[in-house]
Amino acid sequence: MKKIALIGFGASAIGFLKGFEEFGLNKIYSVDVYEKGEDIGRTGFGGLKYDGKLFISKGMGGDLEIPLSVQRRVVEFYLLKSGLAKTDNKGIVVFSENLERGASFENEELYKKFYHAGFEPIRSHFYHLGTDLLTETVQKIYEDYITIDNVNFHFGEEVIQIIPQESKVVVVTKNGEGVYDKVIVAVGRRGHKLVNDMVKNHPELILSNDKVDLGIRFELPDHVVAELNKEMYEFKIRLRSKTGYIVRTFCNNPSGKVTIEKYDDFVTVNGHANSNQKTSNTNFAILVTHSFTQPFNDPVGYGSYISKLSNILAGGDKVILQCYEDFKNSKRTKKLGRVEPTLDSSYYILGDLNLALPRRTIESIIDFLERLEEVIPGITYPDNLLYGAEVKFYTNKINNGFFENIKIIGDCSGWTRSITYATAHGYMLAKSMSEMN
Ligand SMILES: Cc1cc2nc3c(=O)[nH]c(=O)nc-3n(C[C@H](O)[C@H](O)[C@H](O)COP(=O)(O)OP(=O)(O)OC[C@H]3O[C@@H](n4cnc5c(N)ncnc54)[C@H](O)[C@@H]3O)c2cc1C
Repeated sequence: MKKIALIGFGASAIGFLKGFEEFGLNKIYSVDVYEKGEDIGRTGFGGLKYDGKLFISKGMGGDLEIPLSVQRRVVEFYLLKSGLAKTDNKGIVVFSENLERGASFENEELYKKFYHAGFEPIRSHFYHLGTDLLTETVQKIYEDYITIDNVNFHFGEEVIQIIPQESKVVVVTKNGEGVYDKVIVAVGRRGHKLVNDMVKNHPELILSNDKVDLGIRFELPDHVVAELNKEMYEFKIRLRSKTGYIVRTFCNNPSGKVTIEKYDDFVTVNGHANSNQKTSNTNFAILVTHSFTQPFNDPVGYGSYISKLSNILAGGDKVILQCYEDFKNSKRTKKLGRVEPTLDSSYYILGDLNLALPRRTIESIIDFLERLEEVIPGITYPDNLLYGAEVKFYTNKINNGFFENIKIIGDCSGWTRSITYATAHGYMLAKSMSEMN
C-alpha cells in the first residue's frame, strides 16, 4: 500500500478526505494526517472556527474553476453535519428553518440600484453556520473520518520541513520523520512558513505574488442596513474608485461582533456573528487592493508593516477606532457618538487611522463610502465606526504541476480564499488522483 502524508486538518484536508473515501482511494493508499493543533478542538484558525459562512459563487472565494454543482455539494456536506439540513426520504437536502441563508443580488431592482451607482454587484448564495455551531460540526466530521480505513490522525505534530527526493518525499516533524509516496500540503494561510521554505529552494513553484488588500472594518447600527441584511445577509460589491484602486466589501456580519485577529507580531481586525447572541450592529470590511510591480516583491511585508504601525499608534496589541467624520477630516476621534463598539474596549484605542493608512487607501475608502451613500442612506453617518487596520494577505500562487508527488491545496496554494473553495480544492485533488489510478 502506498503512503500519503496530509499536512494540516482544515477545510482543504476535509475536502480531500471526503474524496479519498468517496473515490475508494483508501484501497490504494494509507494517509497520515499531521495536524499541529493539540486536538481536534485546537485545529486551525479561520472560517471553520469563526463565523462559518459558506458561499456558492463564481465571483469570489478563489481563483479556481470549481463547478457550481461541486460547490453546492460541499456546502450541503457541512450543513448536514451541522444539523442545519437533513436529507428527506427522496434523498433531497432540506434546510432547517433556523438556517440563516440568502442570495446576493437575485433581486434585480437592488442589482440595478448598485450597478447604476457605479458598483459591480457580485452574485452569490451563502449559508451561515455561526461560530457556536462550528466546533461540533468539525468534531462530527472528524469522528466520521477516524472510521475510514487507513486514515491515521497525528495531533500536536507540526511539520517543519518537506524534503523532495527522487521518487519519495520526506516529512520532518519535531518528533521525527517519515517517508511518503505523496505529500499533500494543506496548512492554510497561517502555515505559510512551510510553503515559503519550499519556495526558497524551488522559486519556480511560484506563479505570481504581487497583491495585498488593506483597509478597515466598518461598523454601524443594524437598522441602517436592515433591508440589505434581510434581502442578502452578505452584500458583496466592488468599485473602481477615483484613485484607480479596486475597493470591495468583505465578510458582512449582521448583528455581529468586531474581533481581533492575532498574528505572531501584530494584530488586525476582523468580524464574525453567532447564530444566537446577536448584537444590534452590523460590521463588514472595506478593502482596497494594492498591486505592486517589480522590483518590489514583498506585499506581505507591506501589509504587516501597516498593521504594526496601527498597533504602535494604539500603544501595543490594539487597533485604532475612529468615527467616520473624523476619518474624513483627518482628526483624531476623542469621543464616540451613538454607535456602541462591539469590540471589547481593551482591544482598541480612539485615534486617527490617517496616521497609519496610506493616502490612496484612505481616499479610496472615502470615495467608496460616499458613493455607497447614494444607495444606502445613512452609511456615512458621522458617528459610524472604522477599525483599522484590516489586512488580507494573498499567498503566492503555486504551480502545482512542478512536483509530481507534492501537491499544495487550499489557501496556502494561493488559489483559494474560502471554506467552499478550499474544501472543493481538496475534493477535486482526490478525484483527479482516483482518475489517474
Ligand atoms: C478569522 C477568519 C474568519 C474566516 N471566515 C470565513 C468564513 O466565514 N467563510 C469562509 O468561506 N472563509 C472564511 N475564512 C477563510 C477560511 O477559513 C479559509 O479560506 C479556509 O479555512 C482555508 O482552508 P485551508 O484548508 O487552506 O486552511 P485551514 O482551514 O486554515 O487549515 C490549515 C490547518 O493546517 C494546520 N497547520 C498549519 N501549519 C501546519 C504545520 N506546519 N504542520 C501541521 N499542521 C499545520 C493548522 O493548524 C490548520 O488546522 C476566514 C478566515 C479567517 C482567518
